[in-house]
Amino acid sequence: MVLYAPGRTSSYPENPPKKGLRYHYLGGGDEVGNVGIMLEDAKSTRLLLDYGLAPTNPPRYPSEAPMVKDAIITHSHIDHLGMAPWLCANHRTKLHGTALTAEISNLMWHDCYKVSSIEKYPLAWDKRDIDTALESWQIHDYNKKWQHEDWQLSLHKAGHIPGAAMLEIETPNRKVLMTGDFDTRDSPLTSGAKPRKVDTVFLEGTYGGRDHPDMQQEILRFMDRIQQVVDRGGTALIPAFANGRTQDIVMNLHKYLPHLDVHVDGMGKRIAKLQMQHPESLKDPAALESSWRWSRQVSSKSDKKKALDSDVIVTTSGMLEGGPALWYLNRLRHDNKNAILQTGYQASNTGGRMLQDKGQLRIFGKMTEIPLELDQFTFSTHAGHKEIVEFAKACEAEEVVVYHTDPNHARPPLVEALEANGHIVHTPVNGVSEFLGEEYSRSN
Ligand SMILES: [Zn+2]
Ligand SMILES: [Zn+2]
Repeated sequence: MVLYAPGRTSSYPENPPKKGLRYHYLGGGDEVGNVGIMLEDAKSTRLLLDYGLAPTNPPRYPSEAPMVKDAIITHSHIDHLGMAPWLCANHRTKLHGTALTAEISNLMWHDCYKVSSIEKYPLAWDKRDIDTALESWQIHDYNKKWQHEDWQLSLHKAGHIPGAAMLEIETPNRKVLMTGDFDTRDSPLTSGAKPRKVDTVFLEGTYGGRDHPDMQQEILRFMDRIQQVVDRGGTALIPAFANGRTQDIVMNLHKYLPHLDVHVDGMGKRIAKLQMQHPESLKDPAALESSWRWSRQVSSKSDKKKALDSDVIVTTSGMLEGGPALWYLNRLRHDNKNAILQTGYQASNTGGRMLQDKGQLRIFGKMTEIPLELDQFTFSTHAGHKEIVEFAKACEAEEVVVYHTDPNHARPPLVEALEANGHIVHTPVNGVSEFLGEEYSRSN
């Protein structure tokens, strides 16, 4: 058994609440990522929602989970399931989620293990625990209820990425919705989340205070920039996250620039195959299949060399932290006709952020100047400020718990907008227990 991350011992109260429904954030309350939410009532009915780690450098971990028999995993991003192998190995916890989330989890855990070995990060689970976790899955279809003690649970489409789910909980006293990461807007891969009528909604607030640019305009700006690079004889390198972003981008390229030669590399290739095996999780399965047939998947060293002469390369890692992207960048950097087009958030201390700030990054251990054109595009599949506020209103929720958010910048404008709409707003803090509904009382 592997020791839990140092300094992150359990903050969870030993006894069940005397009455009401209690929530407690092990992580992800007043921060983005790293999610773990315990729910418990007076009958000791317990549930954990997500158990992830934040893939920062070094990673952040939630505090140690108490004994819990069942965990819901909303989707297959590492900040929502990265610590599940520890949970299954130590508590024999069952994992509940959609079929696609379960299948992709295998890739995500192995990748996480590989990165932690290379970077020598402490990880509270080892490779054998991945097998235990894979055997712990219980698959649920969207919109099908199941019984958890005297609670009824069901999963609903969350947008964001294929397989992502929101959890609805019907307790004898309250109806609760927990969004996980969600978006109400459609993307090429997924349809947007639809509101549910509930008493309480736990809302992911990553984009509080910020509205996304108009998606169509941003796509056209992106396509124009790619065409410019190609017209001058260059190659556009597009670092993209493997799980969702890679496929969204390839589908858009197929739609808007079908005359280009586009190569795809990295873990996004395997994830696309799994997505295609689960058409129920996709908005337009035929569109993903045809764009995948159209693009060229890189599978050998000679393919990689061919890709260097093509128009566009879409590859991991999205934050230029390892992956084939660095191999390509190391070669493309010598010709300033080439360009790097970033398509997602770049966390601090990552290669992608360093490139933005200083025009250089570490390639195979060596700080390297990158004298190429660099541009950033916003293709987030998290709800923006406006979508979050509208969603809470459409849920007709009496109270809202805002989590998965930066407490200093993103949360205050969101709280203000939600309160103006008449919601009671909770602002959870990691390690502090609070109550829902009539039991709700602020400790300050
Ligand atoms: Zn997340
Ligand atoms: Zn996510």
